[in-house]
Amino acid sequence: MRFLFFFATCLSLTAGEKAMFDHVLENCHTELKAAQGLLDRILKGEKQPLELYNQLQVHVDALVSLPGLLSQVHPDLKVREEAEKCEQEASQFTTGLSLNKKLYDVFAGINPKGLSKHAKRLLGKTLQDYKRSGIDKDEATRAKIKALEEELVIIGQNFSRNIRDDQRFVEVDPQTGLAGMPADYVKDHPVGSNGKVKITTDYPDFIPFMTYADDAKARQALWIQFNQRGYPKNEQVLKELIQKRHDLALLLGYPSFADYVVEDKMVKNTKRAADFIETISKIAEKGAKREYAELLVEKQKADPKATQVYPYEKAYLEEKIKKDRYHVDSQAVRAYFNFPKVRDGLLDLTGKLFGLSFKRISDPKAWHASVEAFNVMRDKKLIGRIYLDLHPRENKFKHAAQFTVRNGMADKQLPEGALVCNFSNDLMDHDQVVTFFHEFGHLMHHILGGHQKYIHFSGVSTEWDFVEAPSQFFEEWAWDPKVLQGFSKIPSDLVAKMRAADEFGKGIDSRRQMMLASLSLQYYLRDPASFEPLDLLKTMQAKYSDFPYVDNTHMHLSFGHLQDYSAMYYTYMWSKVIAKDFLSAFKQNGLMDKKQAKRYRELILEAGGSKDADELVQDFLGRPYRFEAFKEWLEQGA
Ligand SMILES: [Zn+2]
Repeated sequence: MRFLFFFATCLSLTAGEKAMFDHVLENCHTELKAAQGLLDRILKGEKQPLELYNQLQVHVDALVSLPGLLSQVHPDLKVREEAEKCEQEASQFTTGLSLNKKLYDVFAGINPKGLSKHAKRLLGKTLQDYKRSGIDKDEATRAKIKALEEELVIIGQNFSRNIRDDQRFVEVDPQTGLAGMPADYVKDHPVGSNGKVKITTDYPDFIPFMTYADDAKARQALWIQFNQRGYPKNEQVLKELIQKRHDLALLLGYPSFADYVVEDKMVKNTKRAADFIETISKIAEKGAKREYAELLVEKQKADPKATQVYPYEKAYLEEKIKKDRYHVDSQAVRAYFNFPKVRDGLLDLTGKLFGLSFKRISDPKAWHASVEAFNVMRDKKLIGRIYLDLHPRENKFKHAAQFTVRNGMADKQLPEGALVCNFSNDLMDHDQVVTFFHEFGHLMHHILGGHQKYIHFSGVSTEWDFVEAPSQFFEEWAWDPKVLQGFSKIPSDLVAKMRAADEFGKGIDSRRQMMLASLSLQYYLRDPASFEPLDLLKTMQAKYSDFPYVDNTHMHLSFGHLQDYSAMYYTYMWSKVIAKDFLSAFKQNGLMDKKQAKRYRELILEAGGSKDADELVQDFLGRPYRFEAFKEWLEQGA
């Protein structure tokens, strides 16, 4: 009965009520009021404060999740602005909660004896979060912390905006400058009134140009422009960002900001993070050297005296090697991936693997008419809902990501999630297919893990450095010929060639990732007075890369993750090591092994954040994670 009641609540909230997606601020204030009411009840000393706090978190989730999505996707500017306003009000409310001494005292006064396992975990995590936010400091220090945090929000926004708004360009000769470019690219870049063609530093312009343009000088010029984005504005902003974060860490009692942010992650301390970076870069070194030598040989075909490959030559030379050696024509591969078939195939595959079915909602009345929605069923029971907003349109988020519509909680509400991507409606690049699988990996983690007793542990709420493991793991299915042949007539030998071509460059790429990871860690690990960011960049470049530093470039000033990931850029690779290890469980019987898929569903996905990630990995693999599988993958062909 209880389930039925909430089942009904769930349906009335989404299907048939467009208000949920259109009246953001109104809903926001209702949720805020409800959350405030629960806070008052806890502070008045009502019984079972943890249970009340859990209810409060349900309202906070509504304040944070859906507005976060709508601010990125809603076609109506007014709604997007309302959603942003709601995000700001939500942030004020949650900052207030995290520095509320009276609320902390309520939790600190709870005797953990007699609490259930999950309640104990919730209490432990809540107290830890409070400690980390500086609740035990005196009032003057807490005021300083609050002021620094508010300043940091603005500095961070400035850093990102200076990157986003800094579009640069080069102008090339229409004849020589566009030689080598695909026909559709040439068509999209008409000759301007000055007789030149403008190529910008935006990704859709930049990446194909670096890959295909025969004009080496034009490529060099564009690459330098690309690596000057954010300069000079962000030079000072980055220094402030690093300095203020360092000040905040000292106030909170940590030796550095890096020490502060990694403490509650899987990696736990900065020494392990630094060791991890060294280990990966060592494993990748041999392959990277071989690949670099091959790039040089390729360059020498046109320039026999060349002794050095520059970063602006890498993509172009790599493409030539891939074409010569693996005969993969990415234009021809596209013909095998038709969007509706890929979508249906992916739903079908996920259904078979995890025992689910997806029931299309005929008129979902979502935020845009093009959005599709499906109810997710297991054993004839509704367990959640997914929204697919997969094609580009004006004023929509430009990348690919999974968003939470809302987090689920046992006996209360079902998880709902959205994929927001920018795929073609018709033929897809295989890269896009891989991205679709990656994001779907996040989505299944969110839906299957969204049935915990406490909303705090719902779905993807695991440690930051574990979150990309299920998504990167699910990419493996997009490389399996049998899986692909479930919705495409692609021949197995072509898939094998595509995979081999894709893997060329993995040594260099892994080393570059570790260069960035080391930069991100070291900027936040040292006393800001002891180094110049550009000098440290040059040192890291020399340490991790065979490519020389190029004069007059300032790559660090457009490295947006220095803001949002701060010291933790290592997390993608950390998750990837675990994802490669997960694969070892499927080695014996292949990716369609139902028994392993069931174990994976139950022990990793359904567990959500109910246990520490180390424990989840141990449960599934029967041992702690190891480097071997990753090492084997990286060294294949090296
Ligand atoms: Zn991801």
